[in-house]
Amino acid sequence: MLAIVPLSPGRTVEELKELRELTGDANGAQRVAWTETWEHARNWLGAKLDGLPLEHEVDEAGNQWWTLRGASERAVLIGGHIDSVPNGGWLDGALNVLAGVEVVRRLAEVGEPPATVRLVNWADEEGARFGRSLFGSSAAAGSMADQDELRERRDADGVSLPDAIGAYGVELDRALQARSQLESAAAYLELHIEQGPVLESLELPLGVVLGTFGVERHLVTFTGQAAHAGSTPMDRRRDALAGAAKLELEIREIAKRTGEGAVCTMGGVVTKPGIVTSVVETAECLLDQRHLDAGTLAAMLDEAQSASERFAEEEGIEVAWERIWSIEPILFDEGLIELADESVQEVAGRSHHLPSGPLHDAAEVSRAGVPTVMLFVQSLRGLSHTKLEDTKEEHLELSVQALDRLADKTIAHVAAG
Ligand SMILES: [Zn+2]
Repeated sequence: MLAIVPLSPGRTVEELKELRELTGDANGAQRVAWTETWEHARNWLGAKLDGLPLEHEVDEAGNQWWTLRGASERAVLIGGHIDSVPNGGWLDGALNVLAGVEVVRRLAEVGEPPATVRLVNWADEEGARFGRSLFGSSAAAGSMADQDELRERRDADGVSLPDAIGAYGVELDRALQARSQLESAAAYLELHIEQGPVLESLELPLGVVLGTFGVERHLVTFTGQAAHAGSTPMDRRRDALAGAAKLELEIREIAKRTGEGAVCTMGGVVTKPGIVTSVVETAECLLDQRHLDAGTLAAMLDEAQSASERFAEEEGIEVAWERIWSIEPILFDEGLIELADESVQEVAGRSHHLPSGPLHDAAEVSRAGVPTVMLFVQSLRGLSHTKLEDTKEEHLELSVQALDRLADKTIAHVAAG
C-alpha cells in the first residue's frame, strides 16, 4: 500500500532556515536576482523538487515552472519569488515558494489531481539590481511595455540589463513569449508575509488580501517669493513652505477621514533657496496617495488638490500639480477570496480582509485576467526588506496549512468549472 505523505508545515520552516544559511550572511538575505547567489538558490529549489512527478521548465523571462499534470488541463498556479533585496529578510518571497513546494509534494503523493497544478518561481520580483520590479511576472502577464527603456538600464557597476540577464539565459527581446505560460491558468494563489503591522495589531496570524492599492503620485510645487529673513515683516511674506506645511498636515486628515486603509504620504519637500536668511520661494513636495477603491482614490486626490489651492490663497502663493506615476487598484477574485476566507477560518479560527499596500507578482497575474487571491501571514513589528524581518514559526506553519487548504478548494473549484 502506498503511504500518503501528509503535509509537513514544519519542513517548510526548516527549508526556509536552510535557504537562509545557504544564501544569507550577517547582514541578511543576499538573493538578488541575476546574481550567482540567486542562481544558487534556484538550483537548490529545483533539487527540493527532484524525484517528484513534475515537468520542469524555465520560460523566456527566466521564471521557473514545475507542473503536476491533472485530469483537467486548466491549471491552478501557486507562485512566489526566491529573489530578495540586498540585506533582505528570510521570508519575503521565499515563504510563498517553499510553502508551494510543500503543497505540491503532498498533492503529488495523493496522485493525479482533478486540475493541473503549477508552481512558479517568478524571476526578479524585487528589481533590486536594475530598479525594475516584477520583471518575470509582468513578462508573463504581457504588461511589460518598457523594453526599450530596460535595454538602456545599467546596474551600479555599469553592467547593462540585457548583459546581466543574458548571463542567465534570458533575452530581453524574447521575454514577452513567457506569456504563453498563462494560457491555461484558471487561478493564481500567492501566500506572502504582510510586511506591515495590521495583522499583528489585531493579534491574527492570517488574513485574506482583497487586492492591491491604487496609487497616485504627484509633485506639488508651491511658489512664493524669496525675501530677506530680517527685513521682511511677517505679514508681508509669501512663504512657499507655509503652503507645503499646511498641506502635509491636511493629507493626514484626508487619509483619516477617508478611512478603509487610506494612506497619504508626503515623502519629501525640497525648498529653495534653502538658506537660513531667506523666506522660502519654492517648495516641491512629493505626495503619494493610496486606496483600494478607484473612486475613493480620485476623491482623495481631489480633496488634496483643493486644499492646496485654499492654502495657496491664504498664503498669497501659487501651487502647481504634476503627476509622476499612477496605477489603478487591482481587485482580487471574489470567489477565490471566499475560498481563502474559508481556508483561513479552518486553520486559524478567525479571518480578516485587508488590502495590500505593496504591489506583488499577484497584481500582474490578476491584471492579465487570471482570477487571483493572496494570503497574508503576520509580520512581526511590520518589518520587511531588512534582516529584522520575522514571523513566528507557529504562524509560518499555519500559513502553509492555509495555502494547502486553499489549493485543495481551488483545484476542486477549477475542476468543477
Ligand atoms: Zn515579496
